[in-house]
Amino acid sequence: MTLDDLRGLIRTIPDFPKPGILFRDVTTLIGHGAGFAAAVGHLAARAEADGAEVIAGIEARGFIFGAAVAARMGLPFVPVRKPGKLPVPVLAIDYALEYGTDTLEVDPGAVPDGARVIVVDDLIATGGTALAAVELLRRAGGEVIGAHFAIDLPELGGAERLRDAGVRVQALLAYE
Ligand code: IMP
Repeated sequence: MTLDDLRGLIRTIPDFPKPGILFRDVTTLIGHGAGFAAAVGHLAARAEADGAEVIAGIEARGFIFGAAVAARMGLPFVPVRKPGKLPVPVLAIDYALEYGTDTLEVDPGAVPDGARVIVVDDLIATGGTALAAVELLRRAGGEVIGAHFAIDLPELGGAERLRDAGVRVQALLAYE
């Protein structure tokens, strides 16, 4: 399946979660067996080309894509979690949202020192979430080399912010 075929499987929902936002919904992509397999295949090929040794996924939709990519490549998967979910002492990072802040947490023992980590999520917008995950994984000892997404919204500048932080960015699809 080509990337253009995958584009046809993304659903666009106007005014979600609030008025004026065009929400790109990957539910319809993961709900299509061949489409999801193709998306995971494309992501895994790129992670392989970048020399990934560990795949990290951001809760929650990053778990869906990231864990599938890790399993396909036979690599370890590290969950970057919302607060209060991990049963061990964690490394945590706060990051700014449009209104307020949010927190991500990781098990510091989950990333082997110096391992080449690729972060996976469904979508990058402003890049705030992915940048926080990159910083956290670096503090955990990983060498974060890339961040890979199903979808990029380039007008929001997230991919550029990640590149400025020394991270290779890949996305299967871009939406203006
Ligand atoms: P950012 O931190 O501004 O880059 O926002 C990215 C995060 O918000 C990701 O974890 C996405 O899952 C989520 N997100 C933002 N906009 C959308 C969208 O249109 N569709 C799906 N997820 C979105």
